[in-house]
Amino acid sequence: MKTIGLIGGMSWESTAEYYRLLNERVRERLGGLHSAKCVLYSVDFAEIERLQAAGRWDEAGEVLADAARSLQAAGADLLLICTNTMHKVADHVVAAVDIPLLHLADTTAAAVRTAGLRRVGLLGTAFTMEQDFYRDRVAGPGLEVLVPEADDRAVVHRVIYEELCLGIIREESRAAYGEVISRLVASGAQGIILGCTEIELLIGPEHSPVPVFATTRLHAEAAVTAALAPGR
Ligand code: GLU
Repeated sequence: MKTIGLIGGMSWESTAEYYRLLNERVRERLGGLHSAKCVLYSVDFAEIERLQAAGRWDEAGEVLADAARSLQAAGADLLLICTNTMHKVADHVVAAVDIPLLHLADTTAAAVRTAGLRRVGLLGTAFTMEQDFYRDRVAGPGLEVLVPEADDRAVVHRVIYEELCLGIIREESRAAYGEVISRLVASGAQGIILGCTEIELLIGPEHSPVPVFATTRLHAEAAVTAALAPGR
């Protein structure tokens, strides 16, 4: 089994989910007392969030590149960035190490394509919904990515930073997300990407009339598949 390197802490609420999911999937596949081989580098999210808000992405990228180098030195064979948003600086991470990065947008796109959808809604931070680094990597021939209108994007973003990243789960916010999802479906979305690693703490398949794509779960499953595959 290969060792999975996790660049986490963004927020730790979702990194805890990654840790649980990786171990559960390895136990399902190998049985018995098997568990995931992994190394975690968990950052202080307040520092990252300050850099995000100030648009200082290169500095944030260097923090993650340092984390990646540490994980490689600690024996990681592959890397995960445990947040959709910080894939904005995925190139910094890729350039810093020799081990592969399992890109979250690629695992998400593969799942949406496997489901045969042509039009999918995307929920995430404002950075993820409004900039092209993630949307354009998911979208492609035959697959269109829709984002909510501005007011809805503001609600989705606020709930992530003011509630979910702090471990706060509110019924009102679940209802608000449900309304945003309904409007995306009315615009033609055949599925919804939960494109922020904390959203699946709030929203599950039962809260959406169309299939949801839970990016933390999909990423963890892809990591376990890669870790259990033969070869390096
Ligand atoms: N975990 C979130 C994501 O997947 C948001 C936190 C962050 O800005 O990294 O985008």
